[in-house]
Amino acid sequence: MVDVNIKLKLKEMLKLNSKTIDNRFDVIIDKINNGEIKKVVFLLGAGISVSSGIPDFRSADGFYNNLDPSLLTIRSKKDIEMIKNNPTYLLSSEFFEKTQLPLLETKRSFILELLEKKYKPTLTHWFIRLCHEKKILHHIYTQNIDNLEVQTGIPQDKITQLHGTIDKAICHFCYNIYPMNDFYEHMKNNIKDIKDEDNLTKSKKLLCNKCNKPGIKPDIVLFGEQLNENSFDETKDADLLIISGSSLKVSPANKIPLSVPIECSRLIINNELPFIPDFLEPDTFDLFIEGGCDEKFLEFASYLGWTDDLIKLIKKNKKNISEKSLELLLED
Ligand SMILES: [Zn+2]
Repeated sequence: MVDVNIKLKLKEMLKLNSKTIDNRFDVIIDKINNGEIKKVVFLLGAGISVSSGIPDFRSADGFYNNLDPSLLTIRSKKDIEMIKNNPTYLLSSEFFEKTQLPLLETKRSFILELLEKKYKPTLTHWFIRLCHEKKILHHIYTQNIDNLEVQTGIPQDKITQLHGTIDKAICHFCYNIYPMNDFYEHMKNNIKDIKDEDNLTKSKKLLCNKCNKPGIKPDIVLFGEQLNENSFDETKDADLLIISGSSLKVSPANKIPLSVPIECSRLIINNELPFIPDFLEPDTFDLFIEGGCDEKFLEFASYLGWTDDLIKLIKKNKKNISEKSLELLLED
């Protein structure tokens, strides 16, 4: 871990960006600073965790498209073909109900790495934590299963994990919560590591201690399962919705921008303009700030006059921030 000697190259950054910042951004900054914006809701996606080093699962070069299904414990040739044609079938409830092991084998290294806290929250996560300290964080809706929001110490009741979390193990059939330590040990010792092709042992099923079926898995939502749509209630009195790191391709998350009140500002901070579904007009959004999440939230903090507070918070938690995010704060 690099030593923390945080000095910002802030002036440089402001110069680079001052011309491109829309004055609507100034309005948002003013409203936060004068207390008109009191309730900020975040809608978060995978992009905010990129600088923590979490592997890219979904893109064309991502994990699933490069996975060799013959390494997995799958008996039926038809299933192997189906996965070759559509890798997401691996993560469907239909397939999991037939056989437990391929999902656990696919997720093994990610789960172990997360549970061993290999991945740390990013500057973006800490910016959100700062919003909590400033008492303007109203709620977080996250599509991420990495639990990094919780790792910053933001209270769990302010976070809705729309796609579930890897931090809990549950039975798919009877919803029994399975002891996390036992789950971890099983994943480590009894599920084969498909990355280590020379050393493929045989995986063992993990039976539920209540219904006795092979249904234990991380508490993540599988394809074909109902997503947690029950409560977008927290959006109803939002003053500002910040969407970051999400491509807005997946429902129900992409309905959140419609569920905020009409006077709520909607701000997108993302490295590309998200996909805007038919039911969302581009002018649903007030402002799109293009760029890496960490870089843009760092600038955001500077416009708010929060830089010192952000640095203080990060210094206090320097063992709990990703190296990439920390490097961004360091002078070279
Ligand atoms: Zn069960």
